[in-house]
Amino acid sequence: MKDTIRRYLLNDEVIITASSTRDLVEEAKNIHSTYPVCTAALGRTLTGTVMMAHTLKNDDMLLTVSLNGGGPAGTVLATANGRGEVKGYIENPYVNLPAKENGKLDVGGAIGKDGFVTVTRDLGNGLEPYIGRTELVSGEVAEDLAMYFLKSEQHNTIVYLSVWVDIDTTVIAAGGLIISPLPNCSDATLDFIESRVFDISNYGLMLLSMTPDEIVHRIFDGGDLKFIEEKEPRYHCDCSVERFERGIIAIGEKEISDMIEEDGQAEVVCRFCNKKYHFGKKDLIRLLDEARKNAGKN
Ligand SMILES: [Zn+2]
Repeated sequence: MKDTIRRYLLNDEVIITASSTRDLVEEAKNIHSTYPVCTAALGRTLTGTVMMAHTLKNDDMLLTVSLNGGGPAGTVLATANGRGEVKGYIENPYVNLPAKENGKLDVGGAIGKDGFVTVTRDLGNGLEPYIGRTELVSGEVAEDLAMYFLKSEQHNTIVYLSVWVDIDTTVIAAGGLIISPLPNCSDATLDFIESRVFDISNYGLMLLSMTPDEIVHRIFDGGDLKFIEEKEPRYHCDCSVERFERGIIAIGEKEISDMIEEDGQAEVVCRFCNKKYHFGKKDLIRLLDEARKNAGKN
C-alpha cells in the first residue's frame, strides 16, 4: 500500500483526514536507526505533522511540531511542507523501554510529559511564523496534538496516530486519523461520531489489512462521505551545501576563525537525513570572508 493522505467531508460538517504513512516511517527508522519505541515516537510525530500540513495553503509553507517532554528520547521534531514532504529527528534514537501493560510501545515514557508541544506555522513571505504551545498531556503524541488543537486553536479535534513495529524492527503499518468538526457542526453529527469512537480507536489495527479509504468508509458507514482530495506524503530532506554554508556564515567571524585555526576544516551532519557536508580550509576562508562582509553591512 502506497503512503497516502486522504481528506473527506462528513455530512458537510466535519473534515476527516486519514493517512497511511508506513513507507515514510520506515525510511525515518532506517535514517535514524531508531529503536522500536523511538520509531513509534518519531513515526507518530511525522504522521501527525504531515497530516496537519495538509491544510497549508501554499506548497512552500512549513508546519513544525516539536515535543519536549523531558523523557529519555529527548526532543522529537518533525517539519512538513504543503507538498506533503516531511522530515524529522529524535534526539536520542536508542531508547529501550518495556512495553506497556496493553502490549503497546511506551511512547509516553520515551517522550515524557513534563513539557510542551509546540506547533509552528511558517507562512513564508517574510511574515512572522505563528507559534502555538500547550502543555503535554501524556507524551503519546496524538493526545498532545488534540489538546494543542483545543487549547491553542480553540478547536475540538480527535487525533489518532498509530505505528506498528515488528519484532525484527520493521514498520508493518503506520498512519493516522484526524477528525475536525467545522464550527457549525450539528449535535446529531457529533453524536454520530461519538457512536463510532470504538472503531476510530481501531484505525491502526485496521491499517494492517485495509486502505485508509476502506477504513474511513467502514467507520463512518451510514454518514454522507464526500472525498475531497488526496496527497502522497514522503520523507524528504531538502538540505544542501548552500544551506549549511549560510549556517556557518551565521555563527560569526570569531567562530569561523577558530575553526580554521583549530581544525582547518569542518564537518557538518544534517540532523534530518544524516548527510555529511565537509568544508575544507579554502571553503572556510571564503565563508569567513562572507561573514566579514555581512558584519560590515550591519
Ligand atoms: Zn538533510
